[in-house]
Amino acid sequence: MKYPVYLQLSGTENVYAVQGPDRFWECTRMGAQTLCHDVIATTWPERQRILDMVADDGPWERISGPSFRALWNGTPCGMTSPDTVALDVREHVELADHTTFGISAKARWFVAVTSVDELRAALDWAQERSLELLVLGGGSNMLLHGDVEALVIHVHIQGVEVVSDDGRHVRVAAGAGEVWHDFVMRTLDEGWGGLENLSLIPGSVGASPMQNIGAYGVEIRDHFAWLDAVRISDGALQRFTAEQCQFGYRESLFKRAERGKWILVQVAFDLDRKSPLRMGYGAIEQELQHIPEPNRTHRDVSDAVIRIRRSKLPDPAEIGNAGSFFKNPTVAASEAERLLAAHPTMPNYPQPGGDVKLAAGWLIEQAGWKGHRRETHGVHDRQALVLVHFGGATGKEVWALAQDIMKSVKEKFGVDLEPEVNQIGGA
Ligand SMILES: Cc1cc2nc3c(=O)[nH]c(=O)nc-3n(C[C@H](O)[C@H](O)[C@H](O)COP(=O)(O)OP(=O)(O)OC[C@H]3O[C@@H](n4cnc5c(N)ncnc54)[C@H](O)[C@@H]3O)c2cc1C
Repeated sequence: MKYPVYLQLSGTENVYAVQGPDRFWECTRMGAQTLCHDVIATTWPERQRILDMVADDGPWERISGPSFRALWNGTPCGMTSPDTVALDVREHVELADHTTFGISAKARWFVAVTSVDELRAALDWAQERSLELLVLGGGSNMLLHGDVEALVIHVHIQGVEVVSDDGRHVRVAAGAGEVWHDFVMRTLDEGWGGLENLSLIPGSVGASPMQNIGAYGVEIRDHFAWLDAVRISDGALQRFTAEQCQFGYRESLFKRAERGKWILVQVAFDLDRKSPLRMGYGAIEQELQHIPEPNRTHRDVSDAVIRIRRSKLPDPAEIGNAGSFFKNPTVAASEAERLLAAHPTMPNYPQPGGDVKLAAGWLIEQAGWKGHRRETHGVHDRQALVLVHFGGATGKEVWALAQDIMKSVKEKFGVDLEPEVNQIGGA
């Protein structure tokens, strides 16, 4: 079955848009008013109700999208009118400006989508032609190994809306296509605390749960409320809670069991006007020395994080990169002990489960790679974790450097490095 399925309850003006196996929009008439509810089924009887709705023998009749719209004259829940979807699919589109590495590669097909309906239409378009898909946000966490023989879907769904506000706590939902840093700045403008330590991370809101972005002691899972995603196979719109997302260190369900199956369209966060400031990580405290502690604000922490990041990380606008190319590896405690005996100054961070996290940047630097240059690309001279593109490199060449680094760290320390950056069309 393909979603949405539009229905009308026989003999009434009540219409329904079934969004997926566990979600529907119900639009009922109350006199001159139309009331719309976004119903998310969480129990078996609720799911059964949806099955009954889409079964052919019930009191619900299938209607077309335009008929649904004619009866329900509203556009809540981020939905555009079903009869106004116009896709602008382009061919052979250069992607260098769409990724922060800035490496040249062409998309066979490219489309930007600004709504769930456009996204569903794009999915149908690709399915009709049996095309592979590549979902693109800000392109700040991917290395393109070559031309992309697929439909590249650039998620450009925008909008920020307050879901609830009790005067202190705010739940705010943002479209997947919102720029992450702009969204963080907007929350701080409003006086909502929580995301300040995640300032200046490049990319989109929609990609932020993919790898549970984190920085300066905070990850998005700390403030995550829910996300909405569209299933690629049938267009179903589904809500995921934090638990369902299975967040881990730079990990989520969408990078593991459900990899390549969903496109995230909206993400909601729980923020707090009085949330405590987190200044214990990195040089934040030091950066804020000039402000007496009681006077410090979420904005001050954000400003400090921005200053630190600017001093440490290369700006993709000036030099191509995708931030940390490798994840910090986690090893068993016994393995960490063995390494510490040989390298007593090695940074190490014991984890709650007993394992120990190591600093990939330190391992790479000790293996002699910091500042390494191969004409068109290399390793950043201030941060060994960041691979950089000076111009003219291919994705394959950058990946060859990454592999050499992984091999050399394995030989020197016996530790396996894993890329944090998504390899598109390669490993
Ligand atoms: C200078 C620099 C610093 C960085 N610092 C950090 C940091 O401190 N912490 C951190 O965690 N990361 C950091 N990153 C990595 C990156 O910014 C994040 O991973 C970011 O969330 C990627 O967002 P994006 O929109 O650019 O994703 P993209 O690169 O466009 O996509 C990344 C992956 O997510 C998929 N994807 C994107 N959007 C969607 C969607 N809507 N639905 C489904 N799949 C989607 C893509 O297919 C791809 O597999 C840094 C990157 C740079 C360049």
